[in-house]
Amino acid sequence: MNGFDTIVMVDWSSGNDSGPKPKKDAIWAGVNRDGVAEDPVYLRNRTVAEEWLVALFTSELAAGRRVLAGFDFPFGYPAGYAHALTGSSDPLGLWDWLEERVEDTPKTNSRFDLAGMINLRLGNGKGPFWFNGLQRDIKGLPRTQQGYSNPFPNKRQSEALAKGAFSCWQMGGAGAVGGQVFTGLPVLARLRRQFDVAVWPFQPLETAIAFVEIWPSLTVDAAPENWIKDAWQVTEIARQISAFSADDLSKILDITAPEEGWIFGLGFETKLKAAPPLRNDCFALPAGVNWAPVEEALTLLRSRLTLVTGVETVTLGAAMGRISATQISAKRANPPLPNTAVDGYGFAGGCGAGAHVLRLAEGRAAAGDAPGAVPDGQAIRILTGAALPAGVDTVVLQEDVDVSDATVRFSGPVKQGANTRGAGEDVTNGETILSAGRRITAADLALMSATGVFEIRVCARLKVGVLSTGDELVEAGEIASEGQVFDANRPMLLALIAQFGHTPIDLGRAPDDRDALRARLDAACTEVDVILTSGGASAGDEDHVSALLQEAGAMALWRIAIKPGRPLALGMWGGKPVFGLPGNPVAAMICTLIFARPAMDVLAGAEWSEPQGFDVPAAFSKTKKAGRREYLRARMRGGRAEVFASEGSGRISGLSWAEGLVELPEPAMTVSPGDAVRFIPYGSFGI
Ligand code: AMP
Ligand code: MG
Repeated sequence: MNGFDTIVMVDWSSGNDSGPKPKKDAIWAGVNRDGVAEDPVYLRNRTVAEEWLVALFTSELAAGRRVLAGFDFPFGYPAGYAHALTGSSDPLGLWDWLEERVEDTPKTNSRFDLAGMINLRLGNGKGPFWFNGLQRDIKGLPRTQQGYSNPFPNKRQSEALAKGAFSCWQMGGAGAVGGQVFTGLPVLARLRRQFDVAVWPFQPLETAIAFVEIWPSLTVDAAPENWIKDAWQVTEIARQISAFSADDLSKILDITAPEEGWIFGLGFETKLKAAPPLRNDCFALPAGVNWAPVEEALTLLRSRLTLVTGVETVTLGAAMGRISATQISAKRANPPLPNTAVDGYGFAGGCGAGAHVLRLAEGRAAAGDAPGAVPDGQAIRILTGAALPAGVDTVVLQEDVDVSDATVRFSGPVKQGANTRGAGEDVTNGETILSAGRRITAADLALMSATGVFEIRVCARLKVGVLSTGDELVEAGEIASEGQVFDANRPMLLALIAQFGHTPIDLGRAPDDRDALRARLDAACTEVDVILTSGGASAGDEDHVSALLQEAGAMALWRIAIKPGRPLALGMWGGKPVFGLPGNPVAAMICTLIFARPAMDVLAGAEWSEPQGFDVPAAFSKTKKAGRREYLRARMRGGRAEVFASEGSGRISGLSWAEGLVELPEPAMTVSPGDAVRFIPYGSFGI
């Protein structure tokens, strides 16, 4: 935490109401609470935005939280202007001055007229403002910079340092910010009156709400394809700021610019851009939580984690199992043209009951033929998949006709359109066929291919390192002395990761020695995106994984109400998430399936997925105590779920015997043969 609990970044707009559907160039807000990014908020007009800000500030203050609010327009003008206009150099006086004069509704605002009026007063109608977005001329407001003259500096000091920043004298046009100042500062002036706000860098930031001026282009790179640019920018900059330590943040804020104001982050671009996607405290448990039900633990993981890999382009042949980084839309309708679903004879219009005789047209229509034409009153031989020729909209089955002497005879009725498929009846051109975050299946390949999609953007594969810990472990194939055990977890985890579609990276074994383990983790975190360890995750003397993560200050021991499974040690090492799994192979596998799998999905850019279970009759009896959710090694035989004879978490043979898990909920329960229990086949976990 850096002193602010909630970061809210706003991309302002001086445009008119942009309608109910989220659009670009409207007002967007990005909110990051306690390091967790929320979905960007679309605000269709300034009235809605102001109400939303009031509600947000009110509820944050009520919850005792500090808010850093950023707005993407200058808080001050180049030196000299405020004094010339208001008689004082105080920029906040200028805010009030504007608030009293700007008329603003969702449909229109008076910014151009006011700019013209100021020009007449301060610059003989030739400046400092220019650009008129309206049809009608405005006295004193030049449309272009021709004949323009500005009695004040063109840029503020900070703008001179920010490459590409627009001058606030330009009242409109692509990228201009002048209109946003006129429509934004009045809103901020009102918020200042309603709340105890400190405005940076004019006032000391000692209040619960601070306003800063931002310019997202300074630090935010291009938006991914499926994002609206403004939504992306505010989300990203909120994330960058929330990732900052209190120390770094105070360095950024330590600026003197009493009249003109300053752009947040200027001079610190590299640092802001380097903000890791995951915060160091992303696994911290909320205050008071030390024993979490499975669902709560999953909800936390889901909200804390985010995509950590890049994006690349692949062609269909390499897309199987990859995760789509964008929505995918059809480039062609399926079917592309109306065609026949059967072999038969095509004609126009259908026909009523009774006998029919049609002349057989020359030639035939087969799949792949360009559609020809059939004269009125004739039928044509047509084969499954063939595009319907012009003049054909109905097909009669070949089994139902007699063909002789160049005529086709059959009895009706035949409904118009019978045995044909309409163009686009499956998928229309441009329709979304797959969502972002989809793990591409073989059927998806068929769908993409059929609809003309050949190249797609996918998330780069997640690199997952696997490390076993424990002095007792030896490698399969080596000689085990008495007291030693073969490493069973690593081969299992590496294989599971490959089945999940990630890239497994073998990090070997580490002894129960803190320095050795530290060196392994240091080396690993530069080459992988996430680390799975097994063993040493509890709080005992030899539990070095949890001790080290604790030492790094980025660890939480998650006591989850699950059986089997001891505490899960979750932490960050060198900016990479570490899942400290229990050492017992059964617990290690179940914790991987239940927790690490969905978490890695999110890190890899996939949609959150819940393994699908099925209620089936039990083939066993069991009495279960209240408190923990239990997973039993199970398989289906004869339509019933049977479970492995022993529940011991060292029984690897049971893992191998099983084909899925039976999930028993937290409350106490007695299961008798025939009772419904939830069976989750391994296939539901993608394995
Ligand atoms: P720990 O979590 O380190 O206390 O280990 C719990 C139990 O799991 C001990 O009996 C360990 O020997 C065993 N164990 C830990 N890691 C592995 C492994 N990679 N393969 C097989 N057994 C393991
Ligand atoms: Mg151990």
